[in-house]
Amino acid sequence: MASKIPRTDGRTEQCEHCGRETAHDVRVEVRTENEQAEHAANSREPYRVVTCHACGEETSQRMNDA
Ligand SMILES: [Zn+2]
Repeated sequence: MASKIPRTDGRTEQCEHCGRETAHDVRVEVRTENEQAEHAANSREPYRVVTCHACGEETSQRMNDA
């Protein structure tokens, strides 16, 4: 993946992929779920997206989930 990683002040978090703590970018993205659904506008949910600098693995977590 050659996707550009935005430069923010890195956070150190546990990466499941690396199995150790690495620098991460953390951002919030609004993603549309169920794009096929008729009422897709109702399916936009904020996600916390964490990108590991070491392996590039992206982990997203729905923020509205309990
Ligand atoms: Zn990693």
